[in-house]
Amino acid sequence: MGKLIDEEGRRVDGRKFNELRPIRIEVGVLKNADGSAYIEHGGNKIVVAIYGPKETHPKFMALPDRAILRCRYHMAPYSTEERKPPQPSRREIELSKVIREALEPAIKLEEFPRTAIDVYIEVLQSDGGSRGAGITAASVALADAGIPMKDLVVGCAAGKVDGQIVLDLNDLEDKEGEADLPVAIMPNIGQITLLQMDGLLTIDEFKKALDLAIEGCKKIHQIQREALYRKYFGTSEAESK
Ligand code: ADP
Repeated sequence: MGKLIDEEGRRVDGRKFNELRPIRIEVGVLKNADGSAYIEHGGNKIVVAIYGPKETHPKFMALPDRAILRCRYHMAPYSTEERKPPQPSRREIELSKVIREALEPAIKLEEFPRTAIDVYIEVLQSDGGSRGAGITAASVALADAGIPMKDLVVGCAAGKVDGQIVLDLNDLEDKEGEADLPVAIMPNIGQITLLQMDGLLTIDEFKKALDLAIEGCKKIHQIQREALYRKYFGTSEAESK
């Protein structure tokens, strides 16, 4: 037995291999943004603000046939154990790009030529899996902004810890584990929009981790839907039927 999973198969925070951390999503938390959302996913605390579709500045960036999507993933200096310098790191620049690419296929950009949609993801507290939680919250915030979408996008990671494939790694599991596989999907369309891998997995382990991450995403999708229902109908999805 390794040090991250005990004899009963319990992980450092007491979860089983296929259990998500507690997740809470709130819609429309910022009055000055066109759309917004707040997510707590385990120890991650993330706010997302959406602006647009609006006129593109600088103008040369505008496209004649569709809107452009711009995305900034940023970690607050107080979001990590050791203070993180406020200027964008290489990691934040990379994450901004992959998160944008994960969200783009879900948005009907062609309905807003020459405009820009800005997505600001602010990580207030990070606990592993923040890119997935950021994507989950960003798609809810885009819906809150009234931007036409083909589907929501949900992010969640799976990985390998003490030789076992587990769902939704926390910070310690992410750092001490053998592999991390962040995934984002459009659950209704059934398409993967983000797939990254850190560490090593055999092909069988990869397939198992991917299936587990997709199952996790589907569960989180229900939480997204519930959050939107609560905001717009003041009731849960089940009660409104
Ligand atoms: P993700 O948050 O999507 O899992 P990483 O795997 O790159 O992204 O990071 C894992 C975790 O490592 C983060 O959630 C965060 O808790 C921690 N971390 C990332 N960057 C820093 C940093 N510059 N300083 C301290 N901790 C960091």
